[in-house]
Amino acid sequence: MNYEVIIVGAGPAGIFAALTLADAGIQRVLLLERGKDLSKRQRHNSEDMLCGWGGAGAYSDGKLTLSAEIGGLLNEFTEKKALDQLLKKTDEIYVAHGAPDIFFGAQSPQIEEIADRARLAEMELIPFPIRHIGTENCRIVLDRLRESVAGRVEIRTGCHVQNIRVENGKVQGVELADGQVLSSRFVVAAPGRSGAAWMKQQADALKLKINPSPVDLGVRVELPATVLKKITDVIYESKLIYYSKTFDDKVRTFCMNPYGEVVTEKNNGVITVNGHSYAEKRSENTNFAILVSSAFTEPFDDPIAYGLYIAGLANLIGKGAIVQRLGDLLAGRRSTPTRMEHCLTRPTLTDATPGDLGFVFPYRHMTSIIEMLQAMDRLAPGVSSRHTLLYGVEVKFYSNRIKVSPELETEVTNLFAIGDGTGITRGLIQASASGILAGRAIADKAGF
Ligand SMILES: Cc1cc2nc3c(=O)[nH]c(=O)nc-3n(C[C@H](O)[C@H](O)[C@H](O)COP(=O)(O)OP(=O)(O)OC[C@H]3O[C@@H](n4cnc5c(N)ncnc54)[C@H](O)[C@@H]3O)c2cc1C
Repeated sequence: MNYEVIIVGAGPAGIFAALTLADAGIQRVLLLERGKDLSKRQRHNSEDMLCGWGGAGAYSDGKLTLSAEIGGLLNEFTEKKALDQLLKKTDEIYVAHGAPDIFFGAQSPQIEEIADRARLAEMELIPFPIRHIGTENCRIVLDRLRESVAGRVEIRTGCHVQNIRVENGKVQGVELADGQVLSSRFVVAAPGRSGAAWMKQQADALKLKINPSPVDLGVRVELPATVLKKITDVIYESKLIYYSKTFDDKVRTFCMNPYGEVVTEKNNGVITVNGHSYAEKRSENTNFAILVSSAFTEPFDDPIAYGLYIAGLANLIGKGAIVQRLGDLLAGRRSTPTRMEHCLTRPTLTDATPGDLGFVFPYRHMTSIIEMLQAMDRLAPGVSSRHTLLYGVEVKFYSNRIKVSPELETEVTNLFAIGDGTGITRGLIQASASGILAGRAIADKAGF
């Protein structure tokens, strides 16, 4: 064997797996990452946004959602007390590597009051505590994590893993894009959302059981920060759930960024939108996603393809991301550069094309998004203003949930699947925690 363990992907999941293995004293651990090293990543390069040391975590907002119910499905594998401890341990590692002491969302009468008002507006507020690292501090934390593993784990960036190699139901190692074959006793697949399509290919080739999950499609909403200030000052990120009047579809807010920026990212060749905020630097706007969940059964069961198709439509007519004033959307017309000049919300993403999202979203999604905005307007007047900006398309692929054991081992012996790319987690803290779980399980199996 060339290596004891090969880890595919240097996002939070892969990094925490590497750290756990190194701390357990396991030698000959190789971490392979198809993107660049952190210092070489350029924020405005859409490939670099998601790939490279730190994965999607590098330019994330760095909100650690310290709740077993949010950000993944680890609660289906681990009982609550153990999971709470694991998340606490994960948070401590972030703090030990420089995560600041900025907290939001501890239980308070103010939160109860917001929850009551949300209920009156037909929404449910899910409160949870958050440590806010902030985008600028993410790099510092990721740099320190790199220093922690350097010398104990071999790290190769710019190294695309083509295939996972398996013989007689047992993992053998990996094959790189340049044809090189590397053998190992264990493989940990941690490819992230940007590698979800690759993970599906591998799962199909290896005949791993996968369960398609819903795809979440929607828009990134941007409005003046004052509109949500009374809520974001207390909760920072409010998770609101709504069931649309017309379709009874589950609609939710996601990734709220007070005083943040809207950004684009590249997902499997398609440009989509997202948002983040810095701990110190502030814009005058708040942004958040409104996402509609759609599940498929038969004969179609490929939610990734569906999400990419809709996002691709926005790219087709907008040559990238599209921005539209809510007022224009409701009036049935496109936004134009001239109409955008009359918009009181100044867009933080300046290279989105003013256009018409009505040409992009199915009626079902569009209706649900508008109905949620109207419900939110009852909680925070101004949300449904004609000056509110909608950017499209935001898409969250949680699909292809790989069947794994509670230790996150797949049906292939010694092949572990962790993080967002395997449909098991959906955020920094659980992705990182999944790395710890797999690292511990491998250390046990390897007799350390
Ligand atoms: C703009 C933005 C803001 C976000 N804000 C937050 C937030 O505030 N809070 C939160 O909890 N989450 C946030 N997230 C999500 C968070 O970043 C992810 O949940 C987390 O990074 C998932 O970690 P991961 O290790 O599973 O995957 P990733 O971070 O995606 O890392 C996977 C890595 O694997 C590499 N890879 C993929 N396939 C291969 C291959 N075949 N060979 C070699 N390498 C490969 C990729 O290049 C990538 O670097 C945000 C994401 C974005 C994009």
